[in-house]
Amino acid sequence: MSKDTETLTIALTKGRILKETLPLFSSAGIEPLEDMEKSRKLIFPTTREGVSFVLLRGSDVPTYVRHGAADVGVVGKDILMEFGDEGLYEVLDLDIARCRLMTAGIESAQQRSAAKIRVATKFVNIARDHYARRGVQPNVIKLYGAMELAPIMGLADEIVDIVDTGNTLKANGMVPRDHIADISSRLIVNKASMRTRNPIIADLVSSISDAVSARADSLGMGD
Ligand code: AMP
Repeated sequence: MSKDTETLTIALTKGRILKETLPLFSSAGIEPLEDMEKSRKLIFPTTREGVSFVLLRGSDVPTYVRHGAADVGVVGKDILMEFGDEGLYEVLDLDIARCRLMTAGIESAQQRSAAKIRVATKFVNIARDHYARRGVQPNVIKLYGAMELAPIMGLADEIVDIVDTGNTLKANGMVPRDHIADISSRLIVNKASMRTRNPIIADLVSSISDAVSARADSLGMGD
């Protein structure tokens, strides 16, 4: 086996997902050599020779994996639903960073007629699909953050956003309406890497899968 097939680049999502991701890799014997949350670096060697982490925005993770710049990635299901899974395999539900994709609106607002509804979101494809399934063609307005502000400012009637505790919606006078999907982080693998870097990838997936089961058992979620 050439040296190259023994190296592996793993793209991780920065932010709140990272905290829950690292213990899973740690259980699989892969730990970054320095604190990823404190460093300003983007590439991190690990305790496993030839295996490195790169730290990306979630929405960039599938792009790196799809093009083979990273072999493996960790990304939210919301991102996969929005940007598609072309060129990659979704191999494992990591059961971390669980949340829901919902529509929401201002509690006191009168529902607009479906024909005129304006929806603000960063998930434009998911939003179009969801409303289309209800026979509605909304005017979808793309935003990059603070979706909750849009109905308050009169920019939109509803939003499509990620909801965890619901506190952000509540604090802004909004209520959840339709549940679109349950979300959690997924392990994804580049299709070509899956062939060329087996068994290192198969080994990794199996170790991470064990770590996910062990975590579920310790949280009393196991069956
Ligand atoms: P909450 O107030 O707990 O409902 O959290 C809602 C906000 O946190 C949303 O604006 C989301 O952008 C963000 N959020 C919550 N859970 C996640 C997650 N698992 N992944 C990414 N963002 C999240």
